[in-house]
Amino acid sequence: MMLLPGPSVAWSASSTIVSLIRKSRQMNASTTSPNQTMSMICIIAVSPPGALETQSAEWACAVYSKFFVILARAMRIPVAVRRLIESFEKLPGIGPKTAQRLTFYLLHVPQEQLESFAESLVNLKKNTVLCSICRNVGENDPCSICSDPSRDKGIVMVVEQPLDILALERSGKYKGIYHVLHGVINPLDNIGPDEIFIRELLKRVATDESRISEIILATNPTMEGEATAMYIKKQVVELGNGSSSIRITRLGVGVPTGADLEYADDTTLRYAIEGRREF
Ligand SMILES: [Zn+2]
Repeated sequence: MMLLPGPSVAWSASSTIVSLIRKSRQMNASTTSPNQTMSMICIIAVSPPGALETQSAEWACAVYSKFFVILARAMRIPVAVRRLIESFEKLPGIGPKTAQRLTFYLLHVPQEQLESFAESLVNLKKNTVLCSICRNVGENDPCSICSDPSRDKGIVMVVEQPLDILALERSGKYKGIYHVLHGVINPLDNIGPDEIFIRELLKRVATDESRISEIILATNPTMEGEATAMYIKKQVVELGNGSSSIRITRLGVGVPTGADLEYADDTTLRYAIEGRREF
């Protein structure tokens, strides 16, 4: 890898920059905004010779991240700032630039607010538990929904994330209980059935079969959500040797309330037609 001569060199050598911008267009990563172009220049500056034509956007992001660390050291950015930037970068959906923006924003926040923020982070896992029945995040085990005697324990709604429960509870319509998978089957991300709480659901169905009358598969209507729902259905049917009395249903999908039909996509319309009901 080439040694980085220092930020001033990259910024001042205009002819080199023009040539680097041309080179950046040969990379797979799309570079449209000036900021992204500058990032790509930085990447090129630290990339090994001959590597540029074959690298992906993910690689570019990783190299940019490493470049920032080198740049931060060269510019003597305080260790505390650098560490927080690196911590933010580990969060999903946050790239190096957003991590930097968030960190420098926090430098302007009053100390008391920062301490309250830090305390919330420290207590996040300390003061929460996963419900041993439904795998929802709560303050007690079993969670408030599983221990509520007014809920119908015969209906189990399977959702992807705890946030889905919040949305469904807001509707006030559902009175059954839940099972949280904490993800969906996604082979592209190496997430198989064993990486999410499917086995726990099947165990729950096997031990509580006489009480459970219906399983509502409420995974999102995405390719991964549909595949996960299909997998669970197959496993539940196999569990009862095809003679299970448990009704397996899928959450209805279709045109959202207040939507205009002419703007709905083909898949939504197809689901809406298939799921039509008596009126
Ligand atoms: Zn629970």
